[in-house]
Amino acid sequence: MTPSPLPRFDALVVGGSYAGLSAALQLARARRQVLVVDAGLRRNRFAATSHGFLGQDGRPPGAIADEARAQLLAYPNVAWRDATATQAEAEGGAGFALSLDDGTRVAGRRLLLALGVHDSLPPVPGLAERWGRSVFHCPYCHGYELERGRIGVLAGSPAAALHQALMLPDWGTVTLFTGEAFVPDAEQRAALAARGVSVETAPVVRLHDRATVELGDGRRLPLDGLFVAPRTRPSTPLAAQLGCVHEDGPLGPFVRTDARKQTSVPGVFACGDAARLAGNVALAVGDGAMAGAAAHQSLSVPLPQADARAGG
Ligand code: FAD
Ligand code: MG
Repeated sequence: MTPSPLPRFDALVVGGSYAGLSAALQLARARRQVLVVDAGLRRNRFAATSHGFLGQDGRPPGAIADEARAQLLAYPNVAWRDATATQAEAEGGAGFALSLDDGTRVAGRRLLLALGVHDSLPPVPGLAERWGRSVFHCPYCHGYELERGRIGVLAGSPAAALHQALMLPDWGTVTLFTGEAFVPDAEQRAALAARGVSVETAPVVRLHDRATVELGDGRRLPLDGLFVAPRTRPSTPLAAQLGCVHEDGPLGPFVRTDARKQTSVPGVFACGDAARLAGNVALAVGDGAMAGAAAHQSLSVPLPQADARAGG
């Protein structure tokens, strides 16, 4: 018995947030048949407002995505599935197939991964509940609203802690909580002092109120905001399943792409946070536009066979 053919699209886009929507829009406007599969777990869903994206500054992150999605879905050649893609497979020169968590499978000639990243937060009690509200990772996104107030940096990796602590005095009065994670050397201490950063070595054991830090010795230091540098990884492992080469960034692994956002596997493109060192909405939208156009242009030539994996 031959299996019935899978629904086949020109392009499958996994991830229907900023990067995926932007990629799909280019393909939609090229009159290609596009399917977007989205699990609906945008990285910034914890924040009430999004900042720094031109023309949308201060809007709720969901409102920006909803408006973009409505504009995309006005194109009759775009389909949408609220689902999680659990498995991606190459089908030789024909393209790629996805298994979805609703039990169905779909196929496409090109695959675009706009997966976003998962943030691994430090396991300090009270921290996760405040993520995106008074605990942040990106000063450009949320620093301005702290009104030059009291800012903490909770050290994880030494490099990230130093980077954040030296930058954040432009947004307020900074205390660096090193705990045992980071022991600054003399040169680093001098650099921190030159920027007016206080260093606190007692461990942070809990957060209270807005962002009041409780230390191991019982002291409580009220803050307006606390910055951390979570480890990140692509939020689902589809690129790894396909054998796409990843790079080791300072914050975690991300999918390697060329300047046109193609991964090491021909026909697979990746864009947004999952395919860069660090990201934001504007960069995700820009990368998505590039990936969408590049994937579209690749449709007019045959897919090279998979052993042509570059860089692997
Ligand atoms: P995401 O927006 O994370 O979207 C990825 C999408 O893919 C999700 O919907 C997810 O469910 C889906 N997905 C993943 N795997 C699968 C799968 N296997 N099947 C189906 N769907 C899948 N940036 C700013 O510019 N300004 C801000 O103010 C700002 N604030 C932030 C606040 C917080 C707390 C955080 C954590 C981040 C913030 N950012 C901000 C960063 C911003 O959220 C990201 O840069 C942006 O969301 C990246 O877009 P993306 O499309 O790459 O990924
Ligand atoms: Mg996306």
